[in-house]
Amino acid sequence: MNILLVGAGLSGAVIGRELAEDGHQVTIVESRDHIAGNCHTERDGETGIMVHVYGPHIFHTDDEQVWDYVNRHTNFLPFKNRVKTTSKGTVFSLPINLHTINQFFGRSMRPDEALEFITSEQADTSIEDPKTFEEQALRFVGKDLYEAFFKGYTIKQWGMQPSELPASILKRLPVRFNYDDNYFFHKFQGMPEEGYTKMVEKILDHPSITVHLNTRFTRDEAGQYDHVFYSGPLDGYFDFELGRLGYRTLDFERFTYDGDYQGCAVMNYGEEGVPFTRITEHKYFSPWEEHEGSVCYREFSRACGPDDIPYYPIRQVDEKALLADYVELAETTKDVTFVGRLGTYRYLDMDVTIREALDTADMFRKSVADGTDMPTFAVAP
Ligand SMILES: Cc1cc2nc3c(=O)[nH]c(=O)nc-3n(C[C@H](O)[C@H](O)[C@H](O)COP(=O)(O)OP(=O)(O)OC[C@H]3O[C@@H](n4cnc5c(N)ncnc54)[C@H](O)[C@@H]3O)c2cc1C
Repeated sequence: MNILLVGAGLSGAVIGRELAEDGHQVTIVESRDHIAGNCHTERDGETGIMVHVYGPHIFHTDDEQVWDYVNRHTNFLPFKNRVKTTSKGTVFSLPINLHTINQFFGRSMRPDEALEFITSEQADTSIEDPKTFEEQALRFVGKDLYEAFFKGYTIKQWGMQPSELPASILKRLPVRFNYDDNYFFHKFQGMPEEGYTKMVEKILDHPSITVHLNTRFTRDEAGQYDHVFYSGPLDGYFDFELGRLGYRTLDFERFTYDGDYQGCAVMNYGEEGVPFTRITEHKYFSPWEEHEGSVCYREFSRACGPDDIPYYPIRQVDEKALLADYVELAETTKDVTFVGRLGTYRYLDMDVTIREALDTADMFRKSVADGTDMPTFAVAP
């Protein structure tokens, strides 16, 4: 069959490779001038440092099959994300752990003492049924930690007061009562030695795959193919005819430094008065390389306009209602499947994106074998 993949990010690349291996002819169109979507990495022209162009990307997963998949296509080296945060001129360790608590309160508590201190002296137990992010945070950790580590960061990241966000965002107690400062819990973590773009290049390296960069797909082209997998924005497919799904976008302000700027890959700035949310020092993503200079990005979050890159789906009540209308409209299309973070309007980590792409290819195989229609959504948005 003649298959079109819209987007050369992880979704398009993985589905494309699977179907090419099944013997289909695969065409991939990508509107940008590079592959790998938002995971794109490239060497900085001035310093030679591998830069995460669309923000820091750390690979972490519990999915052994996905871990094997990425390791088949590139060499991963060990990497642990150890994030710091600056609050009122002091640097603390994140996620909030025993070191953060002891430093913040000027104490030297053991794990059980700290747990008792937070739950009985800090947490606001008068909040019985927390409904908002703010109430949930106050109930879990109390006013002092909430204001230092959650409040300002959340306002800057989402452009909303934590009292307007649902409690569900903070599902569990966001504190560790030990000195584990590894940002992620997953069994497998690492960084591709030569960057994510090299990995995607290997995934796309198959004689039945043709990639066209700088090529924007429009829906009138869909009929030329037996099936289309679309990883662009769901509302964009329909020319935004029902309105725009809300996103946050990011601005990155690049600067260089002669030497070591901050001593870690990611430094958060939780205070509302500091306009950016974090600074990323890219050479720390490749600790096996040596660089004299440094390249850093200050990251600013704001509402996404029509000409901006959509980063984080907002998914509040209004957006979910509009999403339901777009899903209904999408169900009327034939031979098109909406995939990936933009096609299904969800935040997806890379490992989940790959898992869903592999499952989508399996679903397509089955539909071809059974002679049934491939669903419009392999995973419900
Ligand atoms: C700031 C940030 C940090 C992140 N950090 C991590 C992390 O640390 N770890 C992790 O696991 N995940 C992280 N992610 C998630 C990761 O970026 C996604 O999992 C991944 O990019 C999803 O791949 P995708 O192919 O679905 O989408 P994308 O990467 O967005 O690819 C879609 C592609 O489609 C193209 N396209 C869109 N419309 C059209 C059109 N009409 N015609 C042609 N081409 C089109 C786009 O240009 C894009 O290249 C992060 C995401 C963000 C925003």
